[in-house]
Order: sequence, then C-alpha cells, then structure tokens
Amino acid sequence: MRAMLFEGKLPLRLRELPDPVAGPGQVLVRVRACAVCRTDLHVVDGELDRPKLPLVPGHEIVGEVAALGPGVTGFAIGERVGIPWLGWTDGECVYCRTGRENLCERARFTGYQIDGGYAELTVVDHRYCFKLPPGPDLEMAPLLCAGLIGYRCLVAAGPGERLGLYGFGAAAHILAQVARHQGRRVFAFGRPGDVEAQRFARDLGAAWAGDSTELPPEPLDAAIIFAPVGELVPLALRATAPGGTVVCGGIHMSDIPSFPYSILWRERVLRSVANLTRKDARELLELAPRVPVRTEVVPFPLEQANEALAALRGGKIRGAAVLEVG
Ligand SMILES: [Zn+2]
Ligand SMILES: [Zn+2]
Repeated sequence: MRAMLFEGKLPLRLRELPDPVAGPGQVLVRVRACAVCRTDLHVVDGELDRPKLPLVPGHEIVGEVAALGPGVTGFAIGERVGIPWLGWTDGECVYCRTGRENLCERARFTGYQIDGGYAELTVVDHRYCFKLPPGPDLEMAPLLCAGLIGYRCLVAAGPGERLGLYGFGAAAHILAQVARHQGRRVFAFGRPGDVEAQRFARDLGAAWAGDSTELPPEPLDAAIIFAPVGELVPLALRATAPGGTVVCGGIHMSDIPSFPYSILWRERVLRSVANLTRKDARELLELAPRVPVRTEVVPFPLEQANEALAALRGGKIRGAAVLEVG
C-alpha cells in the first residue's frame, strides 16, 4: 500500500509499505478519506512524547471494511466505518472502570501509537471502529476528531446559552452548528484581523464574530478554546460570566501567562478535555445527522499531505483539510 510516512522529521515521505493484516479482534479498512487534525501537527512537530516511529499519521478516518480478523463480529465486508483518535484501552484501570476510558492509563491512540489513515489501508481494533451515518466520505471524516473532541468539549462546557469559541477551525465550525441546534448563541473569536474566519463563523450562524483580543458584546456562559495558544486562557476567562466554564480542547497548548485571581474568582471553572470515549462517539454520530452537521472541507490528494499540514499550520483552511485517499 502507499502511505505518507513520518520518519521522525518533516516532510512526510510517500512510501510503499506491506499491506497490513487484521489480527485477532481487528478490522482491515480500505481508507477513503482522512481528515488532517491540529494534533497531527503536534505529533510531527515533536510536541507529543514518543510517537511510534516510523508512523502513519491520521486519526479521522473514513473507509470501508476490507477484511475481518479472527473473532470479529458485527461488521460486513464493504461496510463503511469511521476510526477515531482513541484506538485501544485496557478496560480494567480505574478510569476505564468508571466510564472515563478517555483517561485510560494504557490508552493507545490512532496516528500516534498506532498507524493511522494517511495510507491506503489501516487496521483497527473492532471495538473502536464505528458505523457512520449517511453522507459523503470527505465530509464525514472531520466528525471523527474535530467533531468528537469538540462534542466532548461542548458537554464539558455545560448547558449555558452564550457559547464562545476561540479558534474557528475544523472543530468550531462543526460545534457552532451543534450549538445552534441546541438553541445556544455562538460567539466566535479568531486571530486578530482574520476577517475571513469571522465571515465563515457568521455564515454558520454565529451571533457575533470578532478578534480573540476583544471582549464579546455580552458575557459568555462558557467558552471553548481550540487554538493551541495559552494567551487565550486569560482572555477567555475575562469574557466569561461568574459561574461560567472555560474549556481547553487541545492536546497541547503554549504556556498560559499568569493572570489575576479576580478573573477566575466567582466560581469560574477552567478545565481541559482529553481524548474521547466511545460514548462520545456514539452520541455525536447519532446527533450529527439530526442537526444536520454540514462540514466544509478542503480536499488534498494523499501524496499532498505535507501541503495539507502546511495549509493548516498557516491558518489557511476554511473548515477542515481532508486527504482524499480511495
Ligand atoms: Zn484503562
Ligand atoms: Zn484530532
């Protein structure tokens, strides 16, 4: 199979690799589309510890079942499936036993410790492989991380009506649609001067869109920070009403500057969200067609994965970058 391989430094290299084989409990999937996530950049930039090397990145995978390993039931050859970031958990640690498998002490992640979807084929543990609602492959792919982790952030943010989204990329453009469906008002914050992102946010129904350095016209009940920029934390706290929650949705963030206690006091909550659970996946994949979520994607052929990563890094993607594989 062809794969875009990370061998420890950029650029990724197009390589011909042996076709993977589905082992016990695994499904072999022919990849059709794989969205490009900010986390992929953190992996190839060395901001996450000890990735598998060499590595096939990519953890927002849509494909079709090509073969079933021993012991796999519940899937049919040719069936369309999605593969997310959470690739394996032990099922027995204190977190797994208390409904928090996203924090599993031995969790393994797709496109990080397990080869992912920047390739023509991939294998997945069938317990972390999901049936998908109808919709084009390319537009479905961003749901598998931007959608899922975004959804977990939204739940963590609580039910407040006025929702701030810092960084209007792949996750925010999905969440804005879900939030409006839930009757919330969305306040979108982008890089200062990025009028294109502000227009995109308004097109998706944001009640207000502005620079991240601005205060919104009214205080927020909750804010979610998707951009990996620590300076946004005090800005979001200042924009949030007493009792409100600020959720950091990324896996990596630059250092958070010190800030006066007064912007946290009055029971504001600052928290992070890590990874996803299979419950998050089932809930969002059930909810998305009812919204309905329409993702906006910028397609790249598999062999242009480096160009896709560069475009994402440069903030040049409206919606989500997706590799078109199959
Ligand atoms: Zn566990
Ligand atoms: Zn991701």
